Formats: sequence, structure tokens, C-alpha cells
Amino acid sequence: MLTAVVTRCVFRSLLILALWMSGMMPALAAPVVTVGPQTSGLNLAGALETRFTPRDATLEQIRADSVNPWQANPRKLSNFGQSDQALWLHVRLTGLDNLTERAFLHYGYPNTDYVDFWVLQEDRVITHYQGGDRRPFNIRPVPDRLFLFPLPPAAGELDVYLRLESQGPLEAPVSLVTAPQASADEQHNLFWIGLYFGVIAIMVLYNGIILAMVRNRTYVYYILYVISFGWLQFLLFGLGFRYLWPESSTLNNTLTMLTPSVVFASAIAFVIHFVDLQKNGARFEILTAWLLLGVCGLLLVSSLTMPYAVTLGGYKAMMFLSVAMGFYLGVKYWLKGLKSARIFALAWFSYLVFIMIYLLELTGIVEANGITRNALAIGSAVELALLSIAFADKMNEEKDKCLLAQNTLLDVQMQMNADLDRKVRERTEALEAANRQLQEVSITDGLTRIKNRRYFEEVSHAEYQRAYREKTPLSVLMIDIDYFKRLNDQYGHQFGDLCLQRAAELIAGALKRLPDIAARYGGEEFVVLLPNTAPEGALTVAQQIHRSFANHEISDGDHTVCMTVCIGMAGETPDGRDGRENLLKQADDYLYLAKESGRNKVVWAGNADEAKAARVS
Ligand code: GH3
Ligand code: MG
Ligand code: MG
Repeated sequence: MLTAVVTRCVFRSLLILALWMSGMMPALAAPVVTVGPQTSGLNLAGALETRFTPRDATLEQIRADSVNPWQANPRKLSNFGQSDQALWLHVRLTGLDNLTERAFLHYGYPNTDYVDFWVLQEDRVITHYQGGDRRPFNIRPVPDRLFLFPLPPAAGELDVYLRLESQGPLEAPVSLVTAPQASADEQHNLFWIGLYFGVIAIMVLYNGIILAMVRNRTYVYYILYVISFGWLQFLLFGLGFRYLWPESSTLNNTLTMLTPSVVFASAIAFVIHFVDLQKNGARFEILTAWLLLGVCGLLLVSSLTMPYAVTLGGYKAMMFLSVAMGFYLGVKYWLKGLKSARIFALAWFSYLVFIMIYLLELTGIVEANGITRNALAIGSAVELALLSIAFADKMNEEKDKCLLAQNTLLDVQMQMNADLDRKVRERTEALEAANRQLQEVSITDGLTRIKNRRYFEEVSHAEYQRAYREKTPLSVLMIDIDYFKRLNDQYGHQFGDLCLQRAAELIAGALKRLPDIAARYGGEEFVVLLPNTAPEGALTVAQQIHRSFANHEISDGDHTVCMTVCIGMAGETPDGRDGRENLLKQADDYLYLAKESGRNKVVWAGNADEAKAARVS
């Protein structure tokens, strides 16, 4: 503590010395501002003398103390930072009696804790007023959200003193205004303030409607951010104290100190949800975001329990950190391809720009004006509006993504359906082919590849019925190879099999009509069914088969044989449904007769008697 005081004294002495040496020593006597009949809205910043004193110093002490000199304000600064001392402002006015209208000293910062105003003429206090947001509203001489201190219309020189004490920033926008000018200024201000809250209200309404429709939690944080920010500005503009609770300065200060933590918390929560940080963010980003949220909680508690200066320091840091976080994440996700993050980043960037403008004004680098003084409010309106656009853009983007995903899903589903369809078709075809093959196998003789007996039984039955219905003739040939056992015994079974295969080929080769069927009846016995064929025609086929055997030599390279066959042929136009067995038996009998009558012949009804006669007894 002592070191700080010593350091400050040393620093000030050095500064005074330096200024004195460079010929810039501040004037001990303040310059006099002469007021003319037309003077109104005169900025007094350049004419002010300023001076910091301990808070308990009185006006008399200040006036008596010439050791600690007043400082001129050549840079027309209107912000003097934070201080635990009182800031005194002094200006000397003359010619106030020239004004036709009532004149006021206008002090334009509504959040100063204590404001004291004196006017002295010839070292005598002729006017003293008080104000400040730590004092009841009704002690103000003019009920205005800013401060209007009436100036007496006295002739001659008047010394005007303003004492400011605050835990917040010591801002000193001081001007001289007449009553109509003050009213016009305030109307002008209220127009912009109205516009600001109009923008806020529209955004709350617009996003509220969207929230009701889409029920997205991010909208809740955004709306909370907009409302809390609007509320904070309402308090900072001095409107709450003026219109809602003029009696309670405590409530006013508590709310003013408490609200920023809600603003920051909702801003951070909104940023977290906007970029879906929990899902997309790096670990340190998520941690930082939660840490900042935690700090917001602490600041909320500190705003209720700690000196305001402490909380204010925290808020300043939070303002930078949260805006920087929004900007950083905006740029990061923009680069990552989230299109809506462009406007999001721009929103935070524009806010940063307005913070910079505000800081430039605070440090006196740019001259204070309506824009610089309200830079934070304007920046917030621009930022909130851009965020609202970014948000709408994001929802649109998400809708598009959703649609795309739906379409992709639909495509995949259709592709899958087509695949499934194709597979089912393929499987069905394969199954049908296998079935056909199985069926073919089940009716085909394994050795000779012509139809088997089972098939013959089925078809001959059906054909017999048909022949009966249609009154068409039907003939059957029973064929048996002569002395096949001998051949088998002599040349072996393999050669026997070859002979059976050739025999099948010879028999099948003799059939020209489509409905004709040759089948292996058993062993070396074959059967031929000739639908729609009268016995005369069947005899031709039988004789052709008989001849083809006689003319065909079978050879496997080692042996060569020529087989003969016996054929029994029977045919009829059925006159009943049950004659099939008889017909087959008849053909078989004729075959038997052929064997008995010397083999190698065709026997049928026409030569049966002859065969019987030739029977070898
Ligand atoms: P026949 O002139 O009276 O018809 O005398 P055969 O020897 O031809 O008649 P048999 O019925 O006595 O003998 C039939 C022989 O056919 C018996 C068997 O050795 C032979 N055989 C039957 N099925 C097959 C077969 O699938 N493969 C072979 N290699 N031989 C068979
Ligand atoms: Mg036989
Ligand atoms: Mg035989």
C-alpha cells in the first residue's frame, strides 16, 4: 500500500517536472469559457481542469490546496479509468447571463456512483446539487436519466466544480446545454435507444417464433443472450433507474452488476451449442468453454458479495475472452467447412471492432462522439443481428444436410432393395434350374441318358388317356438285345455298358416325331412309345430300329461287335381307359415270341402266327 502511494507520488513529481521542463506545465488558473447568446451544446472537455484527490477531500480543501495542481485536458479526454480516488472537474464560465434560455451543465454518464455539482461566484457557493446512481433518483434537480445541473444566469465569472466518485469507470462527458437543446439531444438519444431496443425486440420475437417451431436448445441460449444483453443496455442507459425503480439505487446497482454474468454465460452457452463444441471441439476448447462458464458463475456470486471493482475487472476480462472465443471458434469451424460459421465469425469480429473503437476513445486516441461512446451498444446490435443471420444460415445448412442424408439413405435403401431383388431373382432362377436339373435327373437313365422307366410309366399313362379321348392310335415297341448276357460275360461289363449306350442312341435316333419317347425299361431292355401312330407306322419304326442294329458295329478299340435285337410291337386306338397294361403286355408277349422264334426279328399282330409256328420248342 505504502509502496503504491510512494510510487504514485514519485511518478507524479517526475511527470510535473518533465512537463515543467518542456514548458508544458499545466496552467494554474483555468481558462475562462465565455458563453455567448447562441451558445448551446458546448463540449467542455477541452476547457476542463481535472484533479484526483482522496475521497474524503472537501470542496474547501480542494480550493485551498494549491500544492496539488489541477491538470489541463488538452486531449479532451472524457474517460479517466477506474480509481479509488475522487475525480474533480473544474471549469470557469462567464457570460451565462447572455443566454436567453435556461442553461445546464450536462453530465452524460448515467452510471457514476456519486456526482456533486457546485457553482461558486466570488468564492461563494451559489448552487449545489447532487446526483449519482447510488443516491435516490429524486434528489436530482432535473429528472433525467443523465444529469442536468442548472447553471445560474449570473453575470461575471462562475467557478463550476463537478466531483465524481465511482467504483466503475470515471467517465466525464461534460457539456453546456440550454433547456431546448437538452430536450432535443435527449429526443435524439431516445430515437437511437428506441431503435436499438426495436432491433432487440425483433430478434427476440423472430428467434422466439423459430424456437417454437424447431424446438432447438441453441435458440434458447441465443434468445437468453439477446434478452440479457438488451436488459444490460437498458440498465446502462440509465432507463431502469429513471423509470422502473427511481427509489432504489441498491436494486439498480445490484442488477447492473449481476446482469453481465448472465450475458457472458448465455453467450458462451450459445457458442458451445452453435458449433456443437461437445461433439466437434478439441479437448482444450471444451475445457476452456466450461472454465469460462465456471468463471461466469463466480462473477455472479462476486457481483453480490465482493466490491464492484473486483467484479468489474472480471467482466472486462470475460468480455475479451468470450468475444475472442466466439471469433476463434467461428474462424476455426469456417475453415473446417461449416458455411454458417463465416457470418458467425464475422459477428464476433464486428463486435471486436466496436470494442476496439471504444478502447480507442477511452485512451483518447480517437475523439469521443456518439458512436464511440455507444460503441459497445452499437457493436452488440450489429453482432446480435449477424448472429441471428448466422443462426438461420446454420439451421438452413442443417436442413440441407438432413435432406441430403435422407436422400442418400433413400438411395442406399433403393440400391439395397434392387440388390435384394436381383439376388432373390438369381437365387430363384438357380433354384429353378436346380429343380429342373433334379427333375431331369429323376426321369433320366443314368447310363444311357435317355428317359427312364418311371418317366415312361407316367407319360405312357397320360398318352393312353389322351389317345382314348381323342380316338387316336397309340403304339408301343418292346426292344431287347439278343444274347446280351453272353456279350457281357465275354467282353466285360464296361463294354456291355458301352453297347447299352449305343443301343439307346440307335433307338432314340430312329424316332423323328416330337411326342415319340424312347426309355430304358430295365437291364438291356428298351421301350418306345409312339403316340398318334397306327400299328402300320409303328412297324416301320420297329423295322428301322431293327435294321439300324444290324448295320451298326460297336467298337471300343479292342473288340468290335454287331448286336441284334428282338422287338415286340403292339398298337391300338384305345376303346377304354384301362387298356395300357394290356397293350404293354401284348408288346412284351410279342417280344417273348420273337425270342422264342429265333431272335433278331420284329414280331407284331401281323406276323405273330408265323412266329408262333417257328417257335423253337
Ligand atoms: P436273350 O437273348 O434271351 O435276351 O439273352 P440275354 O442274355 O440278352 O438276356 P438275359 O435277360 O438272360 O440277360 C440280360 C443280361 O444283361 C444280364 C446282365 O448281364 C446284362 N445286363 C443287364 N443290365 C446291364 C447293365 O446295366 N450293364 C451291363 N453291362 N449289363 C447288363
Ligand atoms: Mg433280357
Ligand atoms: Mg436279351
